[in-house]
Amino acid sequence: MTEIGKVKALEEFLTRQPSKILQSLNKPSEKSPENPSLFHWTGHPFTDAGLVALLLLSGKEKPEELTEEDVEKAVEFASQLYARKEWSSGYIHAMMLPNSGILMANPSMSKKRTPEAIKANLLALLSEPEDPEDPNAPTCEICGRRHARLKPVYRSDFPLVGTGGVPNYFPSGKDGANICSHCLFLSQMMPLIAYRLPRVLVIHAYPYELMLEFHREALDDVRKTELASVARNFRRPENFLFEKLIEIGTSLETGKLENASITLYYFVNNNQGQEVDVIYIPNPVLRFVAFAARVDRRGWNNIVAMGWRRRPSGDEVEEFKRRYPNDVYARLLSGKSILPYFIDPHSRRANSSWRLLSFYCSEVLGLDKDALEFVKRVADRIVETLEKLPDNKLSRRVRELERAEKLYQFEGFFIRVEKDRQELGIPGALMGFDDFARILTSYGEDLNVSWKTVRNLLLFRIYERLHDKLMKASEDVEEPEEEFEEGEE
Ligand SMILES: [Zn+2]
Repeated sequence: MTEIGKVKALEEFLTRQPSKILQSLNKPSEKSPENPSLFHWTGHPFTDAGLVALLLLSGKEKPEELTEEDVEKAVEFASQLYARKEWSSGYIHAMMLPNSGILMANPSMSKKRTPEAIKANLLALLSEPEDPEDPNAPTCEICGRRHARLKPVYRSDFPLVGTGGVPNYFPSGKDGANICSHCLFLSQMMPLIAYRLPRVLVIHAYPYELMLEFHREALDDVRKTELASVARNFRRPENFLFEKLIEIGTSLETGKLENASITLYYFVNNNQGQEVDVIYIPNPVLRFVAFAARVDRRGWNNIVAMGWRRRPSGDEVEEFKRRYPNDVYARLLSGKSILPYFIDPHSRRANSSWRLLSFYCSEVLGLDKDALEFVKRVADRIVETLEKLPDNKLSRRVRELERAEKLYQFEGFFIRVEKDRQELGIPGALMGFDDFARILTSYGEDLNVSWKTVRNLLLFRIYERLHDKLMKASEDVEEPEEEFEEGEE
């Protein structure tokens, strides 16, 4: 069996050339003084989202490649859409920028609303003076530019910054935000590439190239339907993210995600309320999920299927993916182990290949390769013993391991298997004292790598190797319900 433990995978990642995008990000900007870049990445999700819209619309990858003509074309495209009712009252006013004056989404402006008028408003933002000589000019809180916009910006023009006496989501708790006209302009482009679920979803990613990948689909939808993208009718942002991550992962160079980070901003900003959920995807989880399907697609699907309240039938999987919360996703996002989902104790089956299990253990749990190999060796010796047992005894022995909830019960299992070995006349002990001590104590109280982790790994291997035999055993034998007690036998 070939291993794909962390050591090998990471070495391979690290010896690759850094990706083009990382190189370009590490280099100082190449813009020349006479041709300064119109826009920059700022790290703010809403302005970066606007920049993504400009880049995707002009088929470019870097902000410094954008020309004034590109920007004007994008404004033209946006204005045509924004003047329509579906966008204006149905989306912009309803979910993102309530009563927007710039985009004329304020219901009182409906009569005057035309693509030309919206276009003029957007272009006017870009002609406002910036970097004025006055040293007291305000400094934009997002990009650091000095600008001439003295009036604070409210939530009608920039999501979630509050309004008048309601300064919600504004860091210094002041009235409105200090945002320059460039950043304001970019945020007006965000509706083009945001996903419309029950709330609005922006997937903010670094390297920024990755953000383009995550939002390309949204703009494709807008071009096709002339409506905001509904993210294939996904109702939950994390479900959508995991689905996209796997798709993007299939065509991504493995090293691309080494330093990647993704944060979901899932918000609504309207006159009824302003809410935002910020969902951060830990990097090891990001890498694991992106490549899980590549390592073992069927295995990954089995694991995810265990995360719903009930297992979906074949036809239901797509609907479940779109609508329902999944424990596997939730645990991955909150840093909890999903190891129990690699096995299905009900049907005594391993849900994936050992390869995917090993990938998860090394990438996410941080279990070192030696430890994993050690557990696997012990498991194989247990299997070697169990497979010689008569069916009823085999089934009972495995059940003892399955039901071990206390450490002494776990210890008892090894002692019984050792006895089985002696009775069956299998040469060699199951394990020496050192191994025994190691498997019970080395993994200590570490939440991720406790003895329960070891138990799940052992069960995985036992199911993997003995599934058919175990199924046959449980068919043949009416198992008596027995109490699991210390000192049994
Ligand atoms: Zn700015």
